[in-house]
Amino acid sequence: MRHLASGSMALLLFATFAGPSRAATDLPRQPPQPPPTLASKKLLFPIQGFDLARLRDTFEERRGMIKHEALDILAPLGTPVLAVDDGRVAKLFRSLPGGITIYQFDASESYSYYYAHLDRYAPGLVDGVPVKRGDVIGYVGSTGNASAAAPHLHFAIFKLGAEKKWWKGEAINPFPYFAPR
Ligand SMILES: [Zn+2]
Repeated sequence: MRHLASGSMALLLFATFAGPSRAATDLPRQPPQPPPTLASKKLLFPIQGFDLARLRDTFEERRGMIKHEALDILAPLGTPVLAVDDGRVAKLFRSLPGGITIYQFDASESYSYYYAHLDRYAPGLVDGVPVKRGDVIGYVGSTGNASAAAPHLHFAIFKLGAEKKWWKGEAINPFPYFAPR
Protein backbone atom coordinates (compact mmCIF):
# COMPACT_ATOMS: atom_id res chain seq x y z
CA MET A 1 0.00 0.00 0.00
CA ARG A 2 2.73 2.36 0.97
CA HIS A 3 4.63 1.48 -2.16
CA LEU A 4 1.63 2.05 -4.44
CA ALA A 5 0.86 5.39 -2.83
CA SER A 6 4.33 6.72 -3.33
CA GLY A 7 4.28 5.50 -6.93
CA SER A 8 1.00 7.30 -7.61
CA MET A 9 2.37 10.45 -6.07
CA ALA A 10 5.41 10.35 -8.29
CA LEU A 11 3.20 9.84 -11.33
CA LEU A 12 0.99 12.75 -10.32
CA LEU A 13 3.99 15.01 -9.85
CA PHE A 14 5.35 14.00 -13.21
CA ALA A 15 2.01 14.61 -14.89
CA THR A 16 1.68 18.03 -13.29
CA PHE A 17 5.16 18.98 -14.35
CA ALA A 18 5.23 17.51 -17.86
CA GLY A 19 1.56 17.72 -18.84
CA PRO A 20 0.13 21.18 -19.16
CA SER A 21 3.38 23.01 -19.92
CA ARG A 22 4.21 20.68 -22.83
CA ALA A 23 0.83 20.53 -24.57
CA ALA A 24 1.19 19.75 -28.28
CA THR A 25 -0.15 23.14 -29.28
CA ASP A 26 2.61 24.88 -27.30
CA LEU A 27 5.42 23.05 -29.10
CA PRO A 28 7.42 25.21 -31.48
CA ARG A 29 6.41 24.76 -35.11
CA GLN A 30 8.56 22.41 -37.15
CA PRO A 31 10.58 24.29 -39.76
CA PRO A 32 9.54 23.43 -43.36
CA GLN A 33 11.18 20.19 -44.47
CA PRO A 34 13.69 20.53 -47.32
CA PRO A 35 12.62 18.70 -50.51
CA PRO A 36 13.95 15.13 -50.71
CA THR A 37 17.01 14.76 -52.89
CA LEU A 38 16.68 12.68 -56.05
CA ALA A 39 19.49 10.43 -54.86
CA SER A 40 17.56 9.60 -51.68
CA LYS A 41 14.58 8.47 -53.75
CA LYS A 42 16.31 5.52 -55.46
CA LEU A 43 14.24 5.99 -58.61
CA LEU A 44 12.98 2.89 -60.36
CA PHE A 45 14.14 2.51 -63.96
CA PRO A 46 11.00 3.01 -66.11
CA ILE A 47 11.62 -0.03 -68.35
CA GLN A 48 11.62 -3.39 -66.57
CA GLY A 49 14.46 -5.73 -67.46
CA PHE A 50 16.44 -3.08 -69.34
CA ASP A 51 20.18 -3.80 -69.32
CA LEU A 52 21.48 -0.64 -67.65
CA ALA A 53 24.94 -1.28 -69.04
CA ARG A 54 23.40 -0.37 -72.42
CA LEU A 55 22.01 2.95 -71.19
CA ARG A 56 23.54 5.93 -72.98
CA ASP A 57 23.70 9.43 -71.56
CA THR A 58 21.88 11.48 -74.22
CA PHE A 59 21.18 14.48 -71.96
CA GLU A 60 23.75 16.83 -73.49
CA GLU A 61 23.05 15.85 -77.12
CA ARG A 62 21.49 18.38 -79.46
CA ARG A 63 18.18 17.75 -81.16
CA GLY A 64 18.13 20.35 -83.90
CA MET A 65 18.30 23.75 -82.26
CA ILE A 66 17.69 22.61 -78.69
CA LYS A 67 19.50 20.58 -76.09
CA HIS A 68 17.92 17.16 -75.60
CA GLU A 69 17.91 17.25 -71.75
CA ALA A 70 16.47 13.74 -71.50
CA LEU A 71 17.32 10.08 -71.89
CA ASP A 72 16.19 8.09 -74.91
CA ILE A 73 15.58 4.53 -73.80
CA LEU A 74 15.19 2.10 -76.70
CA ALA A 75 12.61 -0.63 -76.13
CA PRO A 76 10.24 -2.66 -78.29
CA LEU A 77 6.88 -1.15 -79.21
CA GLY A 78 4.33 -1.82 -76.46
CA THR A 79 6.83 -2.40 -73.64
CA PRO A 80 5.19 -1.30 -70.34
CA VAL A 81 6.46 2.01 -68.94
CA LEU A 82 6.70 2.08 -65.13
CA ALA A 83 6.35 5.07 -62.79
CA VAL A 84 9.82 5.79 -61.43
CA ASP A 85 8.49 7.15 -58.12
CA ASP A 86 5.34 7.64 -56.05
CA GLY A 87 3.26 10.70 -56.83
CA ARG A 88 0.41 11.71 -59.08
CA VAL A 89 -0.30 12.37 -62.73
CA ALA A 90 0.03 16.13 -63.08
CA LYS A 91 -0.91 16.25 -66.77
CA LEU A 92 -1.59 13.95 -69.68
CA PHE A 93 -0.49 15.93 -72.69
CA ARG A 94 -0.17 15.47 -76.45
CA SER A 95 2.32 17.54 -78.39
CA LEU A 96 3.86 17.48 -81.87
CA PRO A 97 7.38 16.66 -80.65
CA GLY A 98 6.49 14.50 -77.64
CA GLY A 99 3.42 12.73 -78.99
CA ILE A 100 1.50 11.02 -76.19
CA THR A 101 3.13 12.14 -72.93
CA ILE A 102 2.78 12.02 -69.14
CA TYR A 103 3.94 14.57 -66.61
CA GLN A 104 4.11 12.96 -63.17
CA PHE A 105 4.85 14.93 -59.99
CA ASP A 106 6.61 13.20 -57.10
CA ALA A 107 4.83 13.05 -53.73
CA SER A 108 6.66 16.12 -52.43
CA GLU A 109 5.75 18.08 -55.59
CA SER A 110 9.43 18.97 -55.94
CA TYR A 111 10.10 17.09 -59.18
CA SER A 112 8.27 16.32 -62.40
CA TYR A 113 8.96 13.15 -64.39
CA TYR A 114 8.22 13.34 -68.11
CA TYR A 115 7.52 10.28 -70.25
CA ALA A 116 7.14 10.86 -74.01
CA HIS A 117 6.57 9.13 -77.39
CA LEU A 118 4.18 6.69 -75.71
CA ASP A 119 2.09 4.38 -77.86
CA ARG A 120 -0.81 4.75 -75.41
CA TYR A 121 -1.67 5.35 -71.77
CA ALA A 122 -2.39 2.62 -69.25
CA PRO A 123 -6.16 2.08 -68.89
CA GLY A 124 -7.73 4.40 -66.31
CA LEU A 125 -4.85 6.88 -66.27
CA VAL A 126 -6.29 10.41 -65.98
CA ASP A 127 -5.09 13.81 -64.78
CA GLY A 128 -4.56 13.90 -61.01
CA VAL A 129 -4.67 10.16 -60.37
CA PRO A 130 -2.17 8.94 -57.74
CA VAL A 131 0.51 6.53 -58.95
CA LYS A 132 2.90 4.29 -57.09
CA ARG A 133 6.50 3.53 -57.97
CA GLY A 134 6.36 0.58 -60.38
CA ASP A 135 2.80 1.14 -61.64
CA VAL A 136 2.39 0.63 -65.39
CA ILE A 137 1.42 4.09 -66.67
CA GLY A 138 1.82 3.64 -70.41
CA TYR A 139 3.48 1.73 -73.23
CA VAL A 140 6.55 2.48 -75.34
CA GLY A 141 5.79 3.87 -78.77
CA SER A 142 7.01 6.26 -81.41
CA THR A 143 4.40 9.04 -81.31
CA GLY A 144 5.44 12.64 -81.88
CA ASN A 145 8.73 13.15 -83.68
CA ALA A 146 10.19 9.73 -82.80
CA SER A 147 11.18 7.44 -85.65
CA ALA A 148 8.72 4.61 -86.19
CA ALA A 149 11.76 2.42 -86.84
CA ALA A 150 13.12 3.05 -83.33
CA PRO A 151 10.40 3.08 -80.67
CA HIS A 152 11.77 4.49 -77.43
CA LEU A 153 10.87 6.20 -74.19
CA HIS A 154 12.02 9.80 -73.92
CA PHE A 155 12.40 10.33 -70.17
CA ALA A 156 13.20 13.62 -68.43
CA ILE A 157 13.23 15.01 -64.89
CA PHE A 158 12.45 18.61 -64.00
CA LYS A 159 12.96 20.38 -60.71
CA LEU A 160 9.69 22.25 -60.20
CA GLY A 161 9.59 25.92 -59.32
CA ALA A 162 7.60 27.34 -56.42
CA GLU A 163 4.51 27.68 -58.62
CA LYS A 164 4.46 23.89 -59.37
CA LYS A 165 3.51 24.25 -63.04
CA TRP A 166 3.83 21.03 -65.02
CA TRP A 167 5.24 22.85 -68.06
CA LYS A 168 7.86 24.77 -66.08
CA GLY A 169 11.00 23.39 -64.48
CA GLU A 170 14.74 23.05 -64.55
CA ALA A 171 15.97 19.93 -66.36
CA ILE A 172 18.04 17.47 -64.35
CA ASN A 173 20.07 14.72 -66.03
CA PRO A 174 18.46 11.38 -64.99
CA PHE A 175 21.49 9.36 -66.13
CA PRO A 176 23.50 9.34 -62.86
CA TYR A 177 20.42 8.15 -60.96
CA PHE A 178 20.11 5.04 -63.13
CA ALA A 179 23.65 4.27 -64.25
CA PRO A 180 25.12 1.16 -62.61
CA ARG A 181 27.54 2.07 -59.81
ZN1 LIG B 1 14.44 12.09 -76.69
